[in-house]
This record gives sequence, structure tokens and C-alpha cells, in this order.
Amino acid sequence: MTVLRPPTPSSLLALRQELSSAVDAVPLTPTAPEGPNPEGRPVDAAEARAAAATGRAHTAVARGVRSLGGAIEEIFLPRRAADAHDVVIEVEFCGLCHSDVHAARGEWGSRALPFVTGHEMVGRVVAVGSSVTAHAVGDRVGVGCLVGSCRRCDACLRGQEMFCTQGSVGTYGAWDRFHGERTQGGYATSIVVAEDFVLKVPEALDAAAAAPLLCAGITSYSPLRAAGVGEGTRVGVAGLGGLGHLAVKLAAAMGAEVTAFTTSPAKVEAARALGAHHTVLSTDPEAMAAAAASLDVVIDAISAPHDVNAYLKTLRPTGRLAQIGLPPGGGGGQAVDAALLVRHGLSLVGSKIGGIPETQEMLDFCAEHGVATDVEVVGADGLNEAWDRMVAGDVRYRFVLDNSTL
Ligand code: ZN
Ligand code: ZN
Repeated sequence: MTVLRPPTPSSLLALRQELSSAVDAVPLTPTAPEGPNPEGRPVDAAEARAAAATGRAHTAVARGVRSLGGAIEEIFLPRRAADAHDVVIEVEFCGLCHSDVHAARGEWGSRALPFVTGHEMVGRVVAVGSSVTAHAVGDRVGVGCLVGSCRRCDACLRGQEMFCTQGSVGTYGAWDRFHGERTQGGYATSIVVAEDFVLKVPEALDAAAAAPLLCAGITSYSPLRAAGVGEGTRVGVAGLGGLGHLAVKLAAAMGAEVTAFTTSPAKVEAARALGAHHTVLSTDPEAMAAAAASLDVVIDAISAPHDVNAYLKTLRPTGRLAQIGLPPGGGGGQAVDAALLVRHGLSLVGSKIGGIPETQEMLDFCAEHGVATDVEVVGADGLNEAWDRMVAGDVRYRFVLDNSTL
């Protein structure tokens, strides 16, 4: 089993340079205009896919909302012509992320409409710009939460584009100042993305099961790597949803001894099936007391308000708790017991997705170690129900849209 160490800035920089292409030639359009997003003329999906493969401006068939909180419906989405550094992708599968629902239901502020979500895409390259070197027509690729950043600031040069000091460009609902357009996501037949933000998805991975790795996978992988998790590290995972179930699988694949915290006895078997070596019923004070000071790392993937101190107590001295779940509204207001941190030398950190080089590293790791998301594939007609079921926690563990049904 490979023993992993935290990535060094120099190794990330090398990967960064491999993936990097020039942005100097791109005219910047600094501010977003007011008003709605443009819509294209109605086309059928076969026509849309054929037009995408020309590399020219085209209309994609998509699913999105025309009002925040409204039902998901058919949208005809203009996609730009591929510029010199762009890759045109026919999207095959797109994961359904909780962020999609929060954003489309207006829980994270206003959005220009219509609005198409989706930032966990796997598909095939169908056209490339004249200067693209990293990808070729026919390659299987993926796109995650980011489609742009300045590429020049300290964070970008370290391969941490999500912390770009100039502001990274989200895959949907963001203003792409490099191309002068609002971004629209992957519930669509095609997408056009700068090559720097396109990942290589190994053929060994199942396309549907790989899609959620682009957001949920890297969000779980990055804090495990940052904590130096390897053979024998004792890792706890709290919250067994889309993020947490991947954290269990990834930590086990890294050689860790994994403890899953569950809220119900019914989930114990499911946690073991994911690769957890131990389970602790978090609602049982005696079980939690017995787990005190036993873990090196805790990945806290709970996205509801909860008592983080209960999990800090499960850490050994100098242990680290990484918070990756984010409650709706962005906070939680839970007080952290500073004395716990001081007395035991603990670290409490946050982690936000991961940069492009580390996302590529994660995909390669998953292919090598056979890590995949447990998915339930849905067609375009099932999206509204899938969102409701996701909010209700009724999925093991991630829905994925089959984009061939658009
Ligand atoms: Zn996401
Ligand atoms: Zn930057």
C-alpha cells in the first residue's frame, strides 16, 4: 500500500506548470452586466451534440431553473466558441451536489436566471482550441467546481486555485471575467472550459461513479492528504453522506484505520461496507466517552449545526479535526472549547475542495486503488425528485445525472 505524504509546494508547482496555459491573450471583462442570462434557440439533443463537436458557438440542451426555488425544467443554453485554450466536452454524467440545491433554491443569495447547476462532470473531449496541448479529442475528462482563476497569484502558483486572491471562477452562477459571460453548469449536453481546469479521468474509473469525485471526492481527499494520512493513521469520519462516505473509502485506501461515527445503529453495517474498521454511535455518550483520545485525524463532514467539541475530544494529543461540511447559511454558531485545543495541542482546520493539481492526483489515486462513489443514476426527468430526496438524506450516497437522457 502506498504511504502518502502531504504534497509539497514544489511538486504542486511542477504539476501546475504541466497543466498551465497562457491567459495573457484573453481580454478581461471585469464586471457582470445586469439582467437575465441569455437563452439559445430550441434544439434537440442530437443536434446540440453535433454542434458542440464543431468547436463553434452552439446551443446545449440543459436542465435548470427559471426562478430560484422553482422546478427544474428544460433550458437551451448558449455555449461560447472554443478559444485557443478551450476544450469542448460532451458531458456524459454529472453528479448532483447539495450545493446545486442551495444555490438554485436561493439559499446562497441571488442568481441571474435561468440558472443551470452541476459541477461534477465526466465526459469526452469533442473539440479543442488551436493552442490546447493537455487534452485531445476523444480523451475522457472531468470538470469540477472551478473553471477559472488568475493563474498568477501565490495561491494559483501553489496549485490552490480555490483560494485565488483575484477570485476563482465557479463552474456555475459565477461571472467568468476571462470570457465575459456567466458560467452555467453541467446538467447539459456540453460545456466549454479552459484547458487548465479540465482534469484527466482515467479509463479505469466508471464514468458515473467518477463524476462525484470532482467535488465530493477532492473535498474529502484534500484534508486527508494535508494531515499526512497514511499506513496506520487513525482517522475518524463524522457524517456519512456524499462527502463522508468518500472520506471513509479514501482514508481506508490510504492505509488508515478508520472509525465511522454514525447517528443510528442501522448505519453500522453500511459504514463497515464502505471500509470502516470501527463504528461509534455518536448519540451514545458512553460510546463517545470510550472513543476519547483515540484518533489522529477527524474529518467532520456534518453539514448541520452540531457540537464539534464532542469530536475534538476523540483526538489524541496534537490531533487534527478538519471541517468540510458547511451548513446552509454558511455558519453554525457552535462555540469551540479553546481549552480543549490548548490542553491537547489540537488543530481545528477548514478545508475547501482542492486545487487542480491535487484533484488530478486524487483521480489517479482513485483509479489506482479502485475507489469509486456509490451512486444512484437518474435521468433528466428524475432530477426534481432526486433533489428532494437528496435534501431528505434519502440517497446512498450520491445521485448522478445520466446526461444522455437530456
Ligand atoms: Zn459540490
Ligand atoms: Zn490566482
